[in-house]
Amino acid sequence: MSKRDYYDILGVARSADEKEIKSSYRKLAIKYHPDKNPGDHEAEEKFKEAAEAYDILSNPQKRQRYDQFGHAGNSASGGYGGGGGMNMDDIFSQFGDIFGGGHPFESFFGGGGGGQRGGRRVARGSNLRIKVKLTLEEIAKGVEKKVKVNKQVSCHSCDGSGAKDKSSFHTCKTCGGSGSVRRVTNTILGQMQTTSTCPTCNGEGVEITAKCTTCRGEGLERGEETIAINIPAGVSEGMQLSMSGKGNAAPRGGIPGDLIILIEEVPHESLKRDGLNVIYDLYINFVDATLGTSVEVPTIDGKAKIKIEPGTQGGKILRLKGKGIPEVNSYHKGDQLVYVNIWTPKAVSNEEKELLNKLKESPNFKPQPGKSEKSFFERIKEYFE
Ligand SMILES: [Zn+2]
Ligand SMILES: [Zn+2]
Repeated sequence: MSKRDYYDILGVARSADEKEIKSSYRKLAIKYHPDKNPGDHEAEEKFKEAAEAYDILSNPQKRQRYDQFGHAGNSASGGYGGGGGMNMDDIFSQFGDIFGGGHPFESFFGGGGGGQRGGRRVARGSNLRIKVKLTLEEIAKGVEKKVKVNKQVSCHSCDGSGAKDKSSFHTCKTCGGSGSVRRVTNTILGQMQTTSTCPTCNGEGVEITAKCTTCRGEGLERGEETIAINIPAGVSEGMQLSMSGKGNAAPRGGIPGDLIILIEEVPHESLKRDGLNVIYDLYINFVDATLGTSVEVPTIDGKAKIKIEPGTQGGKILRLKGKGIPEVNSYHKGDQLVYVNIWTPKAVSNEEKELLNKLKESPNFKPQPGKSEKSFFERIKEYFE
């Protein structure tokens, strides 16, 4: 399933500021709101799509990840990349920000009707951050990591309600469970209806007369969860992925926070990463460099045989096409670069010394770089191409 570009969905430029994004989303939210389009499935999809785009683009971190990595940046799995999208509760909980405090969404639609869910405040769990260490091989191929996470989960005694038992958990009498109270005032323009957060239940719509003793009414306790994290190929040190809803739980059926995954690279014993490329330092003796040979070099994909041509100079860079790291969310792949070093013996026996001194006299052993030799700078330039 290909996903539409978030900027296209909201109809804004990539350079749009916070205000433009908000205002564009507000228009779409009103246009496609389910209360205005009852039974219209297409409108509902558009409504959800816009909410998701707004959720990403209104958050500077998520937006940066999206700009950099596309849809994969915010979808370690279970996120929007998995096709899950946002649920309606998530969307309505966003509206507090969009339509401003003191103006719950429902008032835009004349109140009543689809009201309740818009007005009720939904508790939100906090985000959780973890680090995941990856080898170069795992980065190259992408990997599923199962990680045991210590986090806040719903309290097992009260099932997250925070109440001691069923009889101590009531719908709020003040607001009848809607989380908001209406007041009608007379003004010179006529009657005006204002809506505000219910003071008794703080907008949650429920009242607890006796608190759960396990969690002291919080509805949460410490627990463990094993989470499977799908890491796309090509991630790098310092990159963050997020899994929506996998962070700390929220009390009373609220929305859990996100799990933020910070990527750490474990250094490889013989290969070095440079962006999408992988670098290998190869050492050969000058006899092999002179006569040519074939050597095995490690790659992120097992061993590879490469040919060393007779007369190879030190400093030559051999390129193994496509043996590097793939770019996140793309078919583009880096190369492996094999840097040829000529090994100079650090100690020699008397016998070797004699042989070498004999060779030294041969005209072939006198350095005579010609036009076919690439300069150091040419080689460096080639490498960066
Ligand atoms: Zn409890
Ligand atoms: Zn209330």
